[in-house]
Amino acid sequence: LASEPPPLVARVVVDQAAITKSFDYLIPDAWRDQARVGTLVRVGLGPRRVGGWITELGHQAPDGVALRPIAKVTGWGPSADVVDLCRWAAWRWAGRLAPVLTVASPPVAVRALPPAGPGTAFRSEPAHAGALAAVAQPGTRVLRTTPAEDIVPILVAAMSRGPILAVIASIDRARLVVARLRRLGAPVASVPRDWALAAAGGHSVIGARAAVFAPCPDLAAVVVIDEHDESLQEERTPTWHAREVAIERARRAGVPCLLVSSCPTLEALRSGEPITLSRSQERAGWPIVDIVDRSRDLPSESGPISPTLVRLLRTEHPVVCVLNRTGSARSLRCGSCGQPGVCERCHGPVAQLDDSTLQCGRCGTTRPVVCLSCGSTRFSARRPGVTRIRAELEQMLGEPVAEVTATTGPPPAGVRVAIGTEAVLHQVGDAAVVAFLDIDDELLAPRLRANELTMALLVRAARLLGPRTSGGRLVVQTRQPHHEVLQAAVLAEPDRFVAAERAMRTDLWLPPSSALATASGPGAESFVAQLSIAVSGSADGQFLIRADTHQELCDALAAAGRPTARLRLDVDPWRV
Ligand SMILES: [Zn+2]
Ligand SMILES: [Zn+2]
Repeated sequence: LASEPPPLVARVVVDQAAITKSFDYLIPDAWRDQARVGTLVRVGLGPRRVGGWITELGHQAPDGVALRPIAKVTGWGPSADVVDLCRWAAWRWAGRLAPVLTVASPPVAVRALPPAGPGTAFRSEPAHAGALAAVAQPGTRVLRTTPAEDIVPILVAAMSRGPILAVIASIDRARLVVARLRRLGAPVASVPRDWALAAAGGHSVIGARAAVFAPCPDLAAVVVIDEHDESLQEERTPTWHAREVAIERARRAGVPCLLVSSCPTLEALRSGEPITLSRSQERAGWPIVDIVDRSRDLPSESGPISPTLVRLLRTEHPVVCVLNRTGSARSLRCGSCGQPGVCERCHGPVAQLDDSTLQCGRCGTTRPVVCLSCGSTRFSARRPGVTRIRAELEQMLGEPVAEVTATTGPPPAGVRVAIGTEAVLHQVGDAAVVAFLDIDDELLAPRLRANELTMALLVRAARLLGPRTSGGRLVVQTRQPHHEVLQAAVLAEPDRFVAAERAMRTDLWLPPSSALATASGPGAESFVAQLSIAVSGSADGQFLIRADTHQELCDALAAAGRPTARLRLDVDPWRV
């Protein structure tokens, strides 16, 4: 009697928000060849048919259970190693597996793969010397570039090892880079569009945040461009961060991971001292930065536009003015001298707790309502917004001034001056002057990463202006002219504020000195009650959950039962 092959059994994770359990199905013989870990399938679940992924394959059907066959093989999904990486990400950001598997899957069904690429090392000129050294051996390295630096030679250097996976924070920039690499003759798949080509192997794979989960069978190195960029983190839960996933993916594959930034984060700098340019090279890659000190302005000059800026506004073009003043959290200013309300202990922003008390939004220190500069007891949060200042500018200059938002698109042709929130920096191609009308709004934003985010904003503006030789000017109006972040930009020394920032975070047990998560929503209170790690409540009904390491934090979050009421868990939250 010829022995029958044992039945093939697949464990399937279904793409259903309310279902975290996985289910077993039989694979009919006709689909045996296509059933791999990661394959996208459709299965019957109760009376419905739903999509899902094969996450395990075996021959052991549970005893006494009659399994249903899968309904259909939809096509290729993430490879087994990427499925494992997704599982790690679901643990690391305390969320469900299905949303991560969705990110790792092709945007449309892929039934067959095109021919593979060459898969060999790609050599071209120019290759970035620092990047070549950085990818010489496995491990994570940080490459500190300048805002004006061309990233193509960095990617070319990494490709000298073989196919790379490159995550580029900006989608537009990723597209331009793919086009240029192809002109150099590099075999490149641009994901998500070329997902099938990437899965075929032999190509370098480039894309925005989600590319970190893209297929890259012959992976030789992982590169993250602009590792400091906020857009590398998913906003929906699980709030995975492409930088951290990249580090883990490279570690698992035993290949180098190169983190590139003009202002490396404390998270990136944990992997060691950055590879840097010479001082003169670094300075040359930054524009001239003019700090306009407004702390000594006469009351008659205290409008939103300083006399210095007025002069530039009349002569230069194009000019971009940035004023981030749309959010609800605005920093307090002294009603008589205009100085911002700053904490004397940690330089964080203070808010009015009650009629007689100010409280630091960062470390919680309280003090009476009194200005540290002039002794006044009058504070105010009301200041003019973009729309009103645009009208004032138009009147002052006697010409049209465009207000630019995320939805207006770039300013109309022929308009010399544009104003907007930071969205304007994404809408304008280049500028002769970028002016931050009130950078103190950024520095004093009530959030953990205010300093790093301000630096990132200055880097973005600097990129529009080009290198020092192009003559562009970054103008920064402030009442804190000696702030380390501003000095870092003036001197083109992005590490100037790093030591102080690290000390502050250590002092306050904030990331990366701790692993931090927030829990919010109606189910948060009962959820955190089960935890045996540090939990504290905050004013807006959010709980802060902390441990020394992510291992400890994420294991605790995974072990705790989920409440039936809605719960949102943000691991590594940006907005604290
Ligand atoms: Zn004052
Ligand atoms: Zn403080």
